Amino acid sequence: MKPVIGITAHTEQRTQRKYCLVSQNYIYSVCAAGGVPFVLPLVNDNSTVVEYLSFLDGLILTGGEDVCPLTYGENPIKEVEFFSLARDQFEMILFKEALRRNLPVLGICRGLHIMNTALGGTLYQDIFRQVESSLGHLPKLLPVDNLYHSIQIDEESRLAKIFSSNEIQVNSYHHQAAKKVAEAFKVTAKSSDNIVEAIEHREKDFVLAVQWHPEDLTVSHPIFLMLFNALIDASTRKKQCC
Ligand code: MN
Repeated sequence: MKPVIGITAHTEQRTQRKYCLVSQNYIYSVCAAGGVPFVLPLVNDNSTVVEYLSFLDGLILTGGEDVCPLTYGENPIKEVEFFSLARDQFEMILFKEALRRNLPVLGICRGLHIMNTALGGTLYQDIFRQVESSLGHLPKLLPVDNLYHSIQIDEESRLAKIFSSNEIQVNSYHHQAAKKVAEAFKVTAKSSDNIVEAIEHREKDFVLAVQWHPEDLTVSHPIFLMLFNALIDASTRKKQCC
């Protein structure tokens, strides 16, 4: 039996209705790595969140809108134009409950922000405004399957083992980033302008998050499938042990 990987969806208002959406690239990447993708619609009752986790072997917290600054005690600056408090709360509860159950978790972009904020960290609301000498992290005209900037990876990290390297090139589609990193995490990759590009939980078997979008690279640069392979391996171990 393959492990079942939950993938958080977002809700999008179109002209007449709201839709539950997720990028097909997460689904493709989970399938290509040997997992069963299971899209998790946003719900606002905690009991359904617990039900979700009863049949999942692993979890992906996906990219998307900004985390509301109020969740880490700040009012928004003008660069924060949209957020969903409902999604923030849903994903934070989902993440904390997944942690409690020792489920493998992969956070992607916003997923990193949610994981850090859920455990007491804070964010730069806009790195271009708030981080001096920040370089490019949001090339709006570049297709998402293109590499954009390099990152340095901590040699002792799980990420370095996954990629067998301490420097790789990644895509980049974010204007926010981790500021104060929660105590439970260590920073395991940074860009040359000192932006946090990956975090890993200090104690859990596989709870890590990346600031880039590996799901958009698994076809054009298959090395990024290694990250999904690692999630599926950890989820298979979890499935077999309990
Ligand atoms: Mn970046």
